[in-house]
Amino acid sequence: MYQEEVQIAWTIAHESIDQKSYSSRKDILQWLDVYSEEWGIAGKIDLFFMREWKLVERKNKIERIYQWYKYQLWWQMICLEEMWYKVNHLEFYSMKDNKTHKVYKPSIDELYKFKELIKRYKSFDLLEKKWSQNTQKCLKCIYKELCDYYIWEVYPQLSLFE
Ligand code: SF4
Repeated sequence: MYQEEVQIAWTIAHESIDQKSYSSRKDILQWLDVYSEEWGIAGKIDLFFMREWKLVERKNKIERIYQWYKYQLWWQMICLEEMWYKVNHLEFYSMKDNKTHKVYKPSIDELYKFKELIKRYKSFDLLEKKWSQNTQKCLKCIYKELCDYYIWEVYPQLSLFE
């Protein structure tokens, strides 16, 4: 498997989680598969502290909390809650600078919008003619070396479907 520098750093940082060696405490769930039947989503949580009802996702270095970071925690929270775990706190932990970034729980309205987004995401089709890459995202994308649809700024938009 090919890994970019950023992914290698992530893999090293997550070694203790992959090996479930963060802690031997029984009240900390580590690297657990989770799913939600209602939402039709699945994933893996990083750390869940059952006594504090706290869900934590560790990242190598966090410079800002992007919306999709929040979605990642919301996604895990939805799965955990459907699995009858109570989740009250959501946090990111930036390992390099030892900083914690709290994320609020979504409101009903945000959950509704998130559900709509997931519906759109599930029905996405690469063959849709309307689809096009976002060059700014492609430039920063860690999968670009592997992606057939990678496009960079100075190129005109590819006409993929002609
Ligand atoms: S390089 Fe590929 S996977 Fe990455 S953002 Fe661009 S189109 Fe998406």
